[in-house]
Amino acid sequence: MKLHDSLLRRKREFKPINPPRVGIYTCGPTVYDYVTIGNWRTYTLGDLVVRVLKYSGYEVDYVMNVTDVGHLTGDNLGDASTGKDRIEEGASREGKTAWEIADHYTRDFLGGYKELNLTAPRLFCKATDHIQEQIELIQSIERKGYTYLISDGVYFDVRAYEKAGNKYGELSTLDQIKEGARVQPNPEKRDPRDFALWKFSSSGSRRFMEWESPWSPPGSTAGVMGFPGWHIECSAMSMKYLGQQLDIHIGGEDLQSTHHPNEIAQSEAATGVKPFVKYWLHGAFLRVDGRRMGKSQGNAYTLHDVEGRGFVPLALRYFYLTAHYRSPLNFTWDALQAAQTALFNLKREMYYWDKPSDPIPEYDERLLESLNDDLSMPKAIAVVWDLVKSDYPSSTKHATLLKWENVLGLGLDKPFVPVEEEVALKNLPPEV
Ligand code: AMP
Ligand code: ZN
Repeated sequence: MKLHDSLLRRKREFKPINPPRVGIYTCGPTVYDYVTIGNWRTYTLGDLVVRVLKYSGYEVDYVMNVTDVGHLTGDNLGDASTGKDRIEEGASREGKTAWEIADHYTRDFLGGYKELNLTAPRLFCKATDHIQEQIELIQSIERKGYTYLISDGVYFDVRAYEKAGNKYGELSTLDQIKEGARVQPNPEKRDPRDFALWKFSSSGSRRFMEWESPWSPPGSTAGVMGFPGWHIECSAMSMKYLGQQLDIHIGGEDLQSTHHPNEIAQSEAATGVKPFVKYWLHGAFLRVDGRRMGKSQGNAYTLHDVEGRGFVPLALRYFYLTAHYRSPLNFTWDALQAAQTALFNLKREMYYWDKPSDPIPEYDERLLESLNDDLSMPKAIAVVWDLVKSDYPSSTKHATLLKWENVLGLGLDKPFVPVEEEVALKNLPPEV
C-alpha cells in the first residue's frame, strides 16, 4: 500500500513500525462551536485510513484528542500572544462558563461522529484531563535545555534546538517558518519561530480554565496560574497512549504549517527518538460555493444544517468519498443532492438483489488496488458502480458490497429507507 507522506512530499510504501500494529493519531476539534462540514471532511479521512488498514489486516490503535482548553488563535500562526481564545469567547457569547461550552460542543461532536459512521477511536482524550502530562512533557524539554521563560510564558527555543544539530520546520509549508521571518513577533521571543509551551494568565483577569504549574514569570515569586500552549497537548496525549513513535498522524492541511512541525519539535526534543511520526497525512480543505469556508462568510455549514435541509448524514459521507483526500473539494447543495441520489440509488439496487452468497475476488482485487493507491476513494467508488452494472449474479454482488461496507461505511448493511421516510421517522415523537 502506498501513502502520501507530507514530510517527504511523495507517496511511499506503507510499512508500520511494529507490524501488524498501527498507531494512528488525529488532531480533533476545538470544542467552542458546532463542528463544520470542513472539519468533518478531515475526520472522515481519519476514519478511512483506519478502515482501510483494518480491511488490509492490520491491528489499528486509533486515538483522537478533543481540544477543550481555549488557546489564542494566534497560536495557530505560531504566536501565542496574539488573537482570541475561542472557548472563552464562546463562553461570553453564550453567557456560560468555558467548561459548559466545551462540554456542550463535545457532546454535539460525538453525536455527529456517530451519525457519519466514523470509527470510534480507542479513546477521545481531552486536553483538560491531561494537564499534568503536558506539564511533565514541558519539564522534559526544559531538562534538555530547549526552553526559556519570558513574562507571558515558557517558550520552545528553536535556535538552541537547531544548535544541538536538530532540524526544525521541515514539514511546514510556510517559508517563514524555515527562515524565521514571521510577522509581528513577540519582542521578548528570542526567535520569531519560538512558540509557547505554557502561558501565564494575564494579571488581573481570571480565566475559566487555568491551572497551577511549576513556572512563574521572571522575577515573580507568587504562584501564577496558567494554561498549556496549543501544540503541547497533542504531543503529550499521542505519546502517552501510542508510544514515543506513531505510525500515522492525520490532520487538515492547515496544521502542516505550524501545529504539526511544532509537535515534531516538542516530541523529538523531549524523547530524543526520531522520527516522532513515520507517515504524515494531511487532507485538503473543503470549500463552499467555490469560496473559503468561514463563520464570517456565513457558509460554515454544520451537520445540523445538512439534516435541516432534508439530507441524511451519510449523503455527506458519500460526497466526501467522491474526491481524493488531497484534492480540494467544493461543497454545493446541488452536489450534496447528487451524492444523496447516488447513495439511495445504490441502496435501491441492493434492495432487489438476492441474498448475499460469496464475494467476487476479481472485484475485490480492483477495490484493493484503488485503496492501496494512496486511498483513492473516487476510483473505489467507480469500482463500486462497475460492480453494480456487471453481469455477475446479484447474490455475489451483494456479498461483495457488504464486504466493502467495512471500508465504505455508507450504511449499505442497513435496510433501504427512502429519505422522506427517514426524515419522517426522525421527527416522530419518542412514544411512537
Ligand atoms: P479546528 O477545530 O479549527 O482545530 O479544526 C479541526 C480540524 O479540522 C483540523 O484538522 C483542521 O485542519 C480541519 N479543518 C478546518 N477547516 C477545514 C476545512 N475547511 N476543510 C477540511 N478540514 C478542515
Ligand atoms: Zn494536534
